[in-house]
Amino acid sequence: MSVSKLQPVFDGHNDVLLKLWKMAGQGEDHKAAVTRFIEGCAGHIDVPRSQMSGFAGGFFAIYVPSPDLGIDMDADMIKPSYDLPLPDSVAYQDALPVALSQAAILIEMERQGAVRICRTVADIRKAYDSGIMAAIMHMEGAEAIAADLEALDVFHAAGLRSLGPVWSRPTIFGEGVPFRFPSDGNIGGGLTDLGQALVRKCNALGIMVDLSHLNEAGFWDVAQISDAPLVATHSNACKISFQARNLTDAQLKAIGDSKGMVGLNFATAFLRPDGKMLPETPLSDMLTHLDHMIAICGEDHVGLGSDYDGATVPVSIRDVTGLPALVRAMQDHGYTHERIHKLCFENWMQVLERTWKKD
Ligand code: ZN
Repeated sequence: MSVSKLQPVFDGHNDVLLKLWKMAGQGEDHKAAVTRFIEGCAGHIDVPRSQMSGFAGGFFAIYVPSPDLGIDMDADMIKPSYDLPLPDSVAYQDALPVALSQAAILIEMERQGAVRICRTVADIRKAYDSGIMAAIMHMEGAEAIAADLEALDVFHAAGLRSLGPVWSRPTIFGEGVPFRFPSDGNIGGGLTDLGQALVRKCNALGIMVDLSHLNEAGFWDVAQISDAPLVATHSNACKISFQARNLTDAQLKAIGDSKGMVGLNFATAFLRPDGKMLPETPLSDMLTHLDHMIAICGEDHVGLGSDYDGATVPVSIRDVTGLPALVRAMQDHGYTHERIHKLCFENWMQVLERTWKKD
């Protein structure tokens, strides 16, 4: 398959910034870590492999890691059932320097020509046409925003266009879901008053609110408050994998009704009916989720949200070079070219057009 024939993929979630931030923490400066990303580095995504796979860009998460709890998540998540303890909240003063550092890495990536930080859909299309990876600055867990929400203005000015009020641990804005199987996400309370104010301010600034990692009560609070389409960037269907991080049919229906979006998460624990984080996971499990989410949300409201560089993905996907295999599996499954292009690229463009303010 020639490069020009590759199906472009725009992706709802990756943890490249965390990967490069960790590299930079081991004695390298940001510049050197970014150069390695351009020349080829470990993990799921880098520039050379993206160019040979059709990876056109996506949401790049700023994520502040939790202190080490001394638990081996991967070992626990292959048990028949599990309920991992959630880390404590991370304080604003601890989160802010990490978030700034990861935002600076994304800015350095743009400086070195690895990505273009996109603020409009036209920016994304332009980046794609010129062969540059399009990056949306996203924040996964809003610990770096204090109660006065002033930092949100600053991050927005730096390019932030998407934000999840929580990763799974609690914040001053709300509660996330633990890694629990079997379970739905109906665990814990809804958004706090500050969380409601955060959603309103995101609406006013045109920052997309990401529902992945929020618990059900928080999800429904956002559904009530927000004037934007409902979006879960990297979540799957509870009906197929009864997993707290996945979405019930009622949630998927609300996403479709709002003309929103759900991105298929490649993390095997969220794909497999047995909830296990095992690499030996068939591509057919991905198609089963896509079929179900399309049936409930409609084919205009489903896309991809790989979780590359943040999770164990199916062995046949391996890394970003597995995207053409996923596209082939969609073709073999009977999806039309038009449907595949919507799922892989165009649906994200349309939901962002409906969400972002025109600059
Ligand atoms: Zn995540």
